[in-house]
Order: sequence, then structure tokens, then C-alpha cells
Amino acid sequence: MSQYQLETTCVQGAYEPKKGDPRVMPIVQSTTFKYETSDQMGRLFDLEEEGYFYTRLQNPTCDLVAEKINRLEGGVGAMLTSSGQAATYYAIFNICEAGGHIICSTSVYGGTFNLFDVTMRKMGIECTFIDPDASEEEIEKAFQPNTKAVFGESIANPALVVLDIEKFAKLAHKHGVPLIIDNTFATPINCRPFEWGADIVTHSTTKYMDGHAMALGGCIVDSGNFDWDAHADKFPGLTSPDPSYHGIVYTKSFGKKAYITKATVQLMRDLGSMQSPQNAFLLNVGLETLHLRMPRHCENALKVARFLQTREEVAWVSYPGLEGDRYYDVAQKYMPNGTCGVLCFGLKGGRDVSIRFMDHLKLAAIVTHVADARTCVLHPASHTHRQMTDEQLLEAGVKPDLIRFSVGIENADDIIADIRQALES
Ligand SMILES: *Cc1c(COP(=O)(O)O)cnc(C)c1O
Repeated sequence: MSQYQLETTCVQGAYEPKKGDPRVMPIVQSTTFKYETSDQMGRLFDLEEEGYFYTRLQNPTCDLVAEKINRLEGGVGAMLTSSGQAATYYAIFNICEAGGHIICSTSVYGGTFNLFDVTMRKMGIECTFIDPDASEEEIEKAFQPNTKAVFGESIANPALVVLDIEKFAKLAHKHGVPLIIDNTFATPINCRPFEWGADIVTHSTTKYMDGHAMALGGCIVDSGNFDWDAHADKFPGLTSPDPSYHGIVYTKSFGKKAYITKATVQLMRDLGSMQSPQNAFLLNVGLETLHLRMPRHCENALKVARFLQTREEVAWVSYPGLEGDRYYDVAQKYMPNGTCGVLCFGLKGGRDVSIRFMDHLKLAAIVTHVADARTCVLHPASHTHRQMTDEQLLEAGVKPDLIRFSVGIENADDIIADIRQALES
């Protein structure tokens, strides 16, 4: 495996064409793959040999793009999924089934909150939500004998809480479970959770990795560092025979790749949320410029945040890259080169003023999306969290006046001019 820097990996990682091969990573737009003898194919079904047979399990294009993300994160293996939601679900379900329990930061993406708080409870998986800034003693109280994993976001969407990854890794490991980090907002360009003790990383590739709002997708990356056998009783799915593969034991057969192999050959086979090769191809085009876009997002967001701070109309600004922000110091530790392009702010006058301001924006578009090359904006209280009362919003950490502003890679002066004219209208 070539040890390229992040920038080179973004552009050329994983796909190494030989003589006469296409220069561009090709889309293998085929659901199925041909073999010469019946026995050849049989060995694939028994996992005795590696190879492609059906795109629901694996596809060459998807595998190359997964491998590029794997190298960016510094893992041992990765799997693409059809969405970020599927990645979150599979990351948990791979090691936690009915009767199990997980611990999750309260500051996570709304979709993740619903998945853990409503849907996975119906499957018999309980979740305790904890304040990410609580003391270690406080967080430890959430662990139960049936706890299987701890989950958090490196930078939370939309609360912009930066997680103290080392603190959470230490606590998770003390209780014999892995730490799973959703690294969507920071991306491996700005933060590499494995270097701080995280065991599994998930992504919504729909956001910065794609970067152009073209293709929904997700990814799970395995660090290979968690010792499942040391906690074999907690993780029987990985450490005892799988009857659906003639009794294979993942940790025995696949060693450090046990977790990601099981996710691919068992969960993807049975539940099927594969990313399409076409979407993986588009994602790869996005990845080729991720290292150029992230610094620009951060640079522009910092300029916008500083501008907002100077304005009378603005009640508060939250951006972890801004000196004086509550999460500035922790961001400096885990992502010293930059955080993300998303910032939040509120206007004096509250909710109604915030809504009127958004209606006056011209360059920044109102869309249900974030982390795009184009500047976009959303008012969670009126959109994603619309069903909640003001009281419920505050409990969920979403102030009624909160504007989520996703700064793009346009010229910062134009973005600021747009905000200025909307504030003055
Ligand atoms: C969007 C998002 C998700 C869900 O991803 P989809 O691709 O929309 O399914 C998960 N986590 C974070 C942090 C997100 O921003």
C-alpha cells in the first residue's frame, strides 16, 4: 500500500491503472460477474476466495472509492453505503443487537437522534444520550453491562460541538467497547479520529466528500485497532461462528478486518444498502478536490463569522474556528488546520427576524443540505425541527432563532455582501 500524503491520496489514491487501463477510475455498471466453473463461484460464497459476484455485496468501483476513504482515514478497510443514515445504522447494528445498549452524545445530527431514539428502540436496542461536555464520572454512569458502543460526532451538526475524542475513547475502552465517530463535518482532511483512539469512523459522503450535492452516500471505516476477542462475550457476532457462512468466525478468519468484513458479507448481503457504482464514481470526483475545498470552506467561514461578530443585528455566533468560541481550544487540539465551513448564528428579535433575513438572501440558497460548494442556509426551527415547540427546541439544543449557515467556496466578499444586504433589508 502506497504511503502518500492526504492530498495525493485524494487525487490518486486506491486506483492504480496498469498498461492500457482507463486513466479515470471506471464505473463498473454491472450487477453481476462471470466465472468459468461452478466451483469457482461456490468458493466465493463460502468466503474461501475473494472476488466479485453480485454488486449488493461488493462492486469494483465502490471498493476503490471505499479504499480511498480508508486510506484518508488511516484504517484497515472501509465499506460504502447508500446514505450516511445507512452507515450509522450498520456501524451500530454490526456489533449490537436486540437486548444491547449504546451511549450517544446528545449533540448529533437529527437523523441519528431519531434512528437511535425511536427506530432502533423498536428493534430492542436501547440508547442513553449524554451531554458531551459532562465530566468523566457523569458519563461513566451511563455504561451498563450490555453496552456495546459509544457514538459521537467530531463536529456536531448543527450544534457545532467539538467532541473531546480522547476522553470518549478512554471511557469506551475502559468499559471494553469501541468508540464510533461520525467524521462527516471535519472530514479526514481536518481530523483523523483514529489518531485519537476512535475505533470506527462513519461518514455521510453526501456532504463535503461529494461536495457538489450530486450523490447521496455513506461510508464506514474500520481502524482495525479494537480487540474484539479480548471482549468476546460482548461481541459474539464477531467472535463466535456465523451459521450463515458455515460457522465462520470473523475474528479468526479475518483478524484486524473482522468488523468491516462482517459488515460487508453479512449486513450488506442481508439488508442491502449498497451505494450505486454511479454514485461512487461521482463521489470519487468530489474526493479528488476535497483537500482543496476544505481549507477554502474554513477560510471563508472564519471571515463570515468575524463579519457577523461586528454586526449589531447579530445576537450570537457559533463557529469552533473562531477565537473565543466555546469549542475553540478543543478544536485547536483535534483539528488545528481548520474545522468546517458550517457556522450558526441568531439575530436579535428572534425567530421571525431570522426567517425574514433568510428570505432576503440572494447568493445563499435555502436548501435542505449542508457542506456544499455553494453557500446554503437552513432554519432548523422552521425546517428540519419544524414539529417541535420552542421549549422542545431548546431541549434539543436548537435555539429557535438558530440559522445554520453553510459557507461555500465562492469569494468570501460576495458571501459577506449578500449577508450585509439581507441584514439591512
Ligand atoms: C447528513 C448527515 C448524516 C446522514 O447522512 P445522509 O447521507 O443524509 O443519510 C449523518 N451524519 C451527519 C453528521 C450528517 O450531517
